[in-house]
Amino acid sequence: MSTDWTPQDWKQKPIVQDVVYEDQAHVDRVLNKLQRLPPMVSASEVDNLRKQLKDAALGKSFLLQGGDCAELFDYCSQDPIEAKIKVLLQMSLVLTWGARTPVVRIARMAGQYAKPRSNPMEMHEGKEIHSFRGDNVNGFDPSDRKPDPERLLGAYFHSAATLNYVRTLLDSGFADLHEPSKWNLSHVRSDNVKREYESIVTQLTDSLDFMRTIGADNGNTNALQSVDFFVSHEALLLDYETSLTRLLVSPTTKEKKWYNTGSHFLWIGDRTRQPDGAHVEYMRGIENPIGIKVGPSTVPEQLVGLLDTVNPNKEIGKVTLITRFGAEKVEKHLPQHIEAVRKSGHIPVWVCDPMHGNTKTASDGTLKTRHFIDIIQELSQTFRVHKDCKSKLNGVHFELTGDSVTECIGGSMDLRDDDLSTNYQTHCDPRLNYEQSLDVAFLIAKYYEN
Ligand code: PEP
Ligand code: MN
Repeated sequence: MSTDWTPQDWKQKPIVQDVVYEDQAHVDRVLNKLQRLPPMVSASEVDNLRKQLKDAALGKSFLLQGGDCAELFDYCSQDPIEAKIKVLLQMSLVLTWGARTPVVRIARMAGQYAKPRSNPMEMHEGKEIHSFRGDNVNGFDPSDRKPDPERLLGAYFHSAATLNYVRTLLDSGFADLHEPSKWNLSHVRSDNVKREYESIVTQLTDSLDFMRTIGADNGNTNALQSVDFFVSHEALLLDYETSLTRLLVSPTTKEKKWYNTGSHFLWIGDRTRQPDGAHVEYMRGIENPIGIKVGPSTVPEQLVGLLDTVNPNKEIGKVTLITRFGAEKVEKHLPQHIEAVRKSGHIPVWVCDPMHGNTKTASDGTLKTRHFIDIIQELSQTFRVHKDCKSKLNGVHFELTGDSVTECIGGSMDLRDDDLSTNYQTHCDPRLNYEQSLDVAFLIAKYYEN
């Protein structure tokens, strides 16, 4: 972190995807209130994640990051939160067991409200209206599209309530490995997935029994009873992020540093990573580990420049590079990126997001979808390219949900194009459903072995 940085410096830089409000005095009142609200995450949790991501960057563990494209305030409710934590825990169990590697878990959750849009306006019934920018800006309902600053406070309180319930669940034994069978496989149609998952659970239960027999597990070993679980979101609304950026003493270095206390991990997207732009300026000053989306339009030298800006000390694992090229483009772009980064001496966490380069329009001509087969192809190619380049893929990033939605085509339940309308829920990008998420975890465990 540069010592002369302040959380407001980004205001001197050009900004994209900015939200224009009608009443600036109202925005200022909201930001003042946000500045007084307590941190949602602590400096020690952030430092702990930084340490864990260093291990991921060194290939000693694997990062699983996933959740909604656009989280809604309505998802802040018992069932959707439990479903999402459950699917992420089950995926991480499959990965830990199958790939024999520790897993770092980061949810796209408790703050993933703001969405960048290709077009700030859209047509509705012949009239031009604001596009939906996420629940912390405006409402999905076409009559509620005017940006409302009160929604920033809504974002804080819904994030805090979500995180509170996640912490409660984990503290109450939701992730207890002694009882993974209680994470039953609801809605799974495929016998193969059921069999594979149940076989892991049986083997795991046998191993725990054995450990108990020899006295190695007395039933209250912390690592078995609960897990570290982190949250993340895209750092898009910089006024909001700045209000939650606080000077705290780092438990690691004992120095005062700027922490974003609204989330453990933040990333900048494909549309906001301009080297001289406001978002990069904000990101370079915070202690939190950060992510940068990398797409086909990322020039390798520019990527190195970005890494130098946000991580001048080349701290291992401080930056996660989330590649999202699209299945067809991985082979063309990824080797150049790996080579440029290697030469620069930076050691990032290399993560594959096989979702955002593979979005298609369904045959009805309106619904956005993604084909499971493209997602798998991008993942397997990314694993292979890293291997060919003597590098290693350190993690994955998915848009997923714990519910049985019908938004992506394919997977072991073989969703077809004309099944999409059965339970199409997303207000933004299509997500893997519960079963497709488990499918993908089994496949990753297999790729990882090879
Ligand atoms: C996202 O992660 O939802 C997103 C908008 O991704 P990207 O910036 O990679 O397009
Ligand atoms: Mn998305």
